Amino acid sequence: MSYNYNPSSQKAEEFINHEEILETLSYAEKNKNNVELIDQILAKARLRKGLSHREAAVLLDCEIPEKVEEIFELARQIKQDFYGNRIVMFAPLYLSNYCVNGCVYCPYHMKNKHIARKKLTQEEIRREVIALQDMGHKRLALETGEDPVNNPMEYVLDSIKTIYSIKHKNGAIRRVNVNIAATTVENYRKLKEAGIGTYILFQETYHKKSYLELHPTGPKHDYDYHTTAMDRAMEAGIDDVGIGVLFGLDKYRYEFAGLLMHAEHLEAAFGVGPHDIDTNDFDNGINDDIFAKLVACIRIAVPYTGMIVSTRESQKSRERVLHLGISQISGGSKTSVGGYAEPEPEEENSAQFDLSDTRSLDDIVKWLMEMGYIPSFCTACYREGRTGDRFMSLCKSGQIQNCCQPNALMTLKEYLTDYASPATKEVGEKLILKELEQIPNENVRAIVIDHLRAIEEENRRDFRF
Ligand code: SF4
Ligand code: SF4
Repeated sequence: MSYNYNPSSQKAEEFINHEEILETLSYAEKNKNNVELIDQILAKARLRKGLSHREAAVLLDCEIPEKVEEIFELARQIKQDFYGNRIVMFAPLYLSNYCVNGCVYCPYHMKNKHIARKKLTQEEIRREVIALQDMGHKRLALETGEDPVNNPMEYVLDSIKTIYSIKHKNGAIRRVNVNIAATTVENYRKLKEAGIGTYILFQETYHKKSYLELHPTGPKHDYDYHTTAMDRAMEAGIDDVGIGVLFGLDKYRYEFAGLLMHAEHLEAAFGVGPHDIDTNDFDNGINDDIFAKLVACIRIAVPYTGMIVSTRESQKSRERVLHLGISQISGGSKTSVGGYAEPEPEEENSAQFDLSDTRSLDDIVKWLMEMGYIPSFCTACYREGRTGDRFMSLCKSGQIQNCCQPNALMTLKEYLTDYASPATKEVGEKLILKELEQIPNENVRAIVIDHLRAIEEENRRDFRF
């Protein structure tokens, strides 16, 4: 290897190394029919300790039907072992669509004069949050464009404070994840102090040349600064970070390798991999079969990392990937600024993208339960201070079934009691009864049964393990 690839380096071009990615892709292409190697990689993957980007790239390229089936089957098993049938629910909250960047694929880009620019006041945020609480949401992802004048860090911090302070009826937002532009260590420290959950930043594309073309102007043009954002976030003490790409933006094989190299880098440099990976297919740039294979291969390559799929994807596409490894989805989302409290008139469109899945949260919760999933509103780890590699330690100690499962059932019970339609409640109550039996520890089960009763009869909330 004559190029400078180094996963623990803090230089973007060394941990996301272009030559290493090209070598990886050619290695994968050469070996895509190499049954012996594929079997070896699958055997390693069955140990559930993950795969390197090179190994995972071979699986992604593999086209031998029975091996592809084995890949899907293994992804399903890993998802089942680590995440069970739980799916954590969240909603995005758009604060402002002012933006000084020029991202060519995004309607918020600075030169777009055909979009209504909006920035929520703290009072408007209150209204949005009350609307979200009345839907049943407990976990939000804050979104805002990059604009130091209109959306300075103080505005984001004030907004977080406002959100956590609102307790409407039995509602509460218990975890605020934040998706804002790459910033300084000092600003990340402030976010950490404000009590954010995960810091999310999409790389968009790891391919530097494409990145520079897609982001021609504004601070986001700086590829290196953007790519090292998570390093600064971690340096500031944020150990739950979420990474992601828009798969349609450049060649998906390249992005896949880049994404895994980014995860490897965070592990090598900070000892903690990403908390989540966001899997979005931009503008349906890749077909559903490839999307499903990407999800399966990510699940196998980084088993301990949560995987999110947004409302950008259609119901059909989401349904297909849920059992392959998705652990979190959005529900009842609005991608316009202020869209929860007041639906926006057509001519005032301030949305970042059109939703493929426009169902309400109640519809999504019912749909998930009818497929046998447990919609979970759990935020327990964050609230108990279990961050960073806590999910891994939960997994390793075999406590997931005694921890995530009860938390899922109790938060679902809260949802059913406070917000669900009668039809959804009926499906949910049956599901809870059935799923109680899956809690292995008898003492834990007895405590959960008592808590479920207290939620219903004593109007008590926020039990957690
Ligand atoms: Fe601004 Fe983000 Fe849209 Fe780029 S993708 S124009 S940074 S809001
Ligand atoms: Fe996630 Fe922790 Fe809740 Fe399990 S207990 S679902 S890891 S927040």
